[in-house]
Amino acid sequence: MKNAAVRGRVLRVAARFAGPRAVVLMYHSVVEEPERTANSIRISHSRASFESQMSALARRFNPVSIEQVTEFAAEGRRLPPRSVAVTFDDGFADNHDVVLPILRRYSVPATFYIMVNAVETGTPPWYCRLNFAFSTTIVPEWKHPENGRTFELGSADGRNAALSMAWDLGAARAGTAQEQLVGQIEESLQVEPLDARAGLMLNWDQVRALKEAGHIIGGHTLSHPNLAHVTEEEARSEIRGCKERLEQKLGEPIQHFSYPHPALNPQWTPQTFQITREAGFRSAVLTTPGSVLPGDQPLSLKRIPAGKDFDEWIWRLERAFVGDWN
Ligand SMILES: [Zn+2]
Repeated sequence: MKNAAVRGRVLRVAARFAGPRAVVLMYHSVVEEPERTANSIRISHSRASFESQMSALARRFNPVSIEQVTEFAAEGRRLPPRSVAVTFDDGFADNHDVVLPILRRYSVPATFYIMVNAVETGTPPWYCRLNFAFSTTIVPEWKHPENGRTFELGSADGRNAALSMAWDLGAARAGTAQEQLVGQIEESLQVEPLDARAGLMLNWDQVRALKEAGHIIGGHTLSHPNLAHVTEEEARSEIRGCKERLEQKLGEPIQHFSYPHPALNPQWTPQTFQITREAGFRSAVLTTPGSVLPGDQPLSLKRIPAGKDFDEWIWRLERAFVGDWN
């Protein structure tokens, strides 16, 4: 079926038979011109496309909070049909500057999962630093620090292959070890590090402004490792540390969490799950695509990555409501 409107009608009929379900949408960044963040953030939506999505969300779906989705999953609380919760990961400054006014215009509640170290220092997450380093370097090759394999950086394919290897290294490190690795890569690629001067990250005043506008602030670790690939001790300090710091700075309990998934699989293990529960989080979201059903474990809620193009965006949502992803 090529026609999006016909496709949509067919799916809406099918959704009536698919039983109650909610959808959590995942975003990261929204900027005026995504080309300008293509060598650092890489995954930004344009302001215009985000605005058309929020306008459609308000008219054709029922925007709800992650708190409501948590109660729907855990306690079977009823939600209106076609309920969608909007979430943002990482804590980019555009969440305040660009996203907040649009959410206000369409009365859409959202949850912002904050990577604490980025707010504290202004330094973008390590995966953005690696994107920037491999995009801007002029050195001809890069040597993998562990297996010694050499990558030619003259072509886009070569750069992407090297970058993907570097992501795997970064995802398995937290804190100081991660900082050292990324610093060494920036040095070997002879680039100016992407740092606080880029102004990409939220500061505490902006995080507070998001909270005061009625949105939910959640945790997204301190240094954004893949929690299933660091030591138990590191996972504990990342999960608890971000909760404590956010609570200290915002003066309210932080109850919702998002597992970082920059690279490597799986994204969590029974152990990270256990630590998240013991830390006192009531819900946690994954990057695994799917919708949320009553009775789902609230510490592993699936999400749908928001499409950039409008047709793709609505197609993914409609598919989620018929249970096409899970
Ligand atoms: Zn993230």
